[in-house]
Amino acid sequence: MNPLFARADGKVLDLPSLRASADDGVVAPADRRDFIPLPEGSLLLTLPGRSVVGFDGPKRSVIGVFDGSEVNAVGAALPLGYTRTLLPAYVERSGASPLPLYGYAAVAWDGVRVCVGAARTDELEMWSPQAHAPEAVRAGIDAHVREFPSSALIRQLALCATEYGCFTAQNVFLRAGEAAIPVSPACNARCIGCISEQEPDSGIQSAQSRVRLTPTAEEIVSVALAHLAAAPNGIVSFGQGCEGEPLLAAPLIARAIKGIRQATSVGTIHINTNASRPQALEQLLDAGLTSVRVSLNSARSETYAAYYRPRGYSLADVIESLRVAGSRGTSISLNLLTHPGVTDDPDEMSAFAEMLRAYPISMVQTRTLNVDPAVYFAGVGRPKRKPIGMRAWLAWLAREFAHVRIGNFTRGFG
Ligand code: SF4
Repeated sequence: MNPLFARADGKVLDLPSLRASADDGVVAPADRRDFIPLPEGSLLLTLPGRSVVGFDGPKRSVIGVFDGSEVNAVGAALPLGYTRTLLPAYVERSGASPLPLYGYAAVAWDGVRVCVGAARTDELEMWSPQAHAPEAVRAGIDAHVREFPSSALIRQLALCATEYGCFTAQNVFLRAGEAAIPVSPACNARCIGCISEQEPDSGIQSAQSRVRLTPTAEEIVSVALAHLAAAPNGIVSFGQGCEGEPLLAAPLIARAIKGIRQATSVGTIHINTNASRPQALEQLLDAGLTSVRVSLNSARSETYAAYYRPRGYSLADVIESLRVAGSRGTSISLNLLTHPGVTDDPDEMSAFAEMLRAYPISMVQTRTLNVDPAVYFAGVGRPKRKPIGMRAWLAWLAREFAHVRIGNFTRGFG
């Protein structure tokens, strides 16, 4: 396989004289077995200010100029249902700005097509672009605006569904699958890769604007009941990408859950959370919450803190939330923010294995972390021991924890 590069005009070409490389915490020649054909729906991304790395036998070459013109390295962003297994290998040129929030995957040319360092990790029709036809979403929005004319929540969701193309927001209007109910503008973490609010001095543009509204419990209940009444196996889902941490709004969510459960027992009531407040989580479990997805990048407290930069909590609180949810028989999944060189680091794997053995976690969602790899490594550090590789890590997880489902999408069960 050969490296790819992008010219200033955006044209992507290969370098036939060199062997492609990839970064798994350690930059090395690319192994064909770690690559799949680039899936439909992927984005090929130019990495501005970054030179291509390739290999000529054992010798590493850095290409920043081709045919007398400056060129850049290339990466890919994957569609839903895939997990990145390798990072693009490149050398940053001085003055290069941080890369925008994408999950950069390594790419190469195999002589016939573009290939990418990735694995298919989930297939759920509900999450396919075909199940989110723009005209159906549009019609759904119009119908909901008529049905809930004064609802600020519906207006927010219409923005998310159209501007951000958010599938869980669109599901509210399609009355199918997992429906988003964003409620919390505030957060008690400052994640390096936060998609809804970046630090002013980070030099990184957040992908969405953080919600500013807090809906009423009545608004939440009416939108939720409409969804659960119509959606087979419907999920009402608190904690979305456009908001902060939902546990900071626990009293409101608890009132809403009680209101929903007074009216119906169907469907799943779910929360995506950083699980920083075990007592607040307990309040929601008491109210009728039945499914919890906990987001984390690491099972090691230092690596966790380096990414989440928590305010007033630590990984110990997150683990206490797992214990609380486990003691209630709640469906627990992890939203694991995966990153080659960190997730597959043997030290990380030991800590993660301990967590999976200690708590009744039924699913690990392997989320490709969307952040500039150099910024992430600067925050959490590169591995001290040679990572085993994400493909081997996926095989290890499936072998050692066969009872744990590996995937990318939350399933309802009510
Ligand atoms: S927990 Fe979520 S909302 Fe809070 S900083 Fe992290 S990504 Fe952003």
